[in-house]
Amino acid sequence: MPLSTALDRYAVLGNPVAHSRSPYIHQRFALQTGQQLVYERLLCPLDGFAHTVQQFAQAGGRGCNVTVPFKFEAPALAQRCTPRALLAGAANVLVLDGSDWLADNSDGEGLVNDIQQGAGVALAGRAVLLVGAGGAAAGVLGPLLEQRPARVRVCNRSPDKANTLVLRHAAWAAQHGVELAACSLQAAAQQGPFSVVINATASSLQGGASPVAPAVLGAGSLAVDLMYGSAAAPWLAWAQAHGAHARDGLGMLVEQAAAAFALWRGVRPATAPVLQALRQDIAAGH
Ligand code: NDP
Repeated sequence: MPLSTALDRYAVLGNPVAHSRSPYIHQRFALQTGQQLVYERLLCPLDGFAHTVQQFAQAGGRGCNVTVPFKFEAPALAQRCTPRALLAGAANVLVLDGSDWLADNSDGEGLVNDIQQGAGVALAGRAVLLVGAGGAAAGVLGPLLEQRPARVRVCNRSPDKANTLVLRHAAWAAQHGVELAACSLQAAAQQGPFSVVINATASSLQGGASPVAPAVLGAGSLAVDLMYGSAAAPWLAWAQAHGAHARDGLGMLVEQAAAAFALWRGVRPATAPVLQALRQDIAAGH
């Protein structure tokens, strides 16, 4: 654990965590908004998430981002959860409120902002395919439904997980007038084309282009992979080859970070300049 400092401390906790771009993003948000803070990476032992969070609070920690594989553990550790973290059953943000942790999930807000403002695609009335049923998919489904797309299909390699995720969100979908159902990866192709296809799986990490067939795409569909950097290249090439607008997950990463920063510091940073700087940084091989 690094030495304590008089400045408020924030960190991203994960395992692995060395690759995380969160320190870069939050340091730029702090500069831009004139906030004095320290942001670092903390590698948690796989069986030591709660202990690391506790130690971090004792050393002046005020808030954390939570990444793989601890997103499902974070709500249990917190004394309170926001409604969207409860719905997801997963959290990517913790904030210390007095001596209590509050757990939130800003992944969905980040994705929705990136799709609607970054890519300029309104979700209302659209057909949306969410591929994946892990932590990221759990975080984004509720906020996607809030935008009132006409229908959402969730498909996953392990179909039971897609079913569970859909059941968990059934009431939320009904409340927002969305037709929500689960299907297999294969069946998704028969139910296309979709206006927006979101790859929330880790398939790109394993070098795969797409877990679903090209029939899910129509001319001009938006195809988003939550992955970014060189790992997203096969998905981007696959989507473009089939006539879709392809987008990686870097915009979502910056947007979900801005939501966390606003929760911690009470000020909302501008995302566009930070996204642009981050893209340049990655393109330069840093
Ligand atoms: P999880 O480990 O919780 O879930 C992984 C998901 O990927 C599961 O649905 C799993 O299916 C599926 N999967 C893994 N390998 C394959 C494959 N070869 N073919 C098809 N499906 C596969 O991970 P997360 O949900 O936390 O993260 C998913 C991705 O989203 C990661 O790449 C992560 O980096 C990215 N992400 C990006 C964010 C951003 O801000 N841009 C934020 C959060 C995540 P099964 O259930 O069958 O195992």
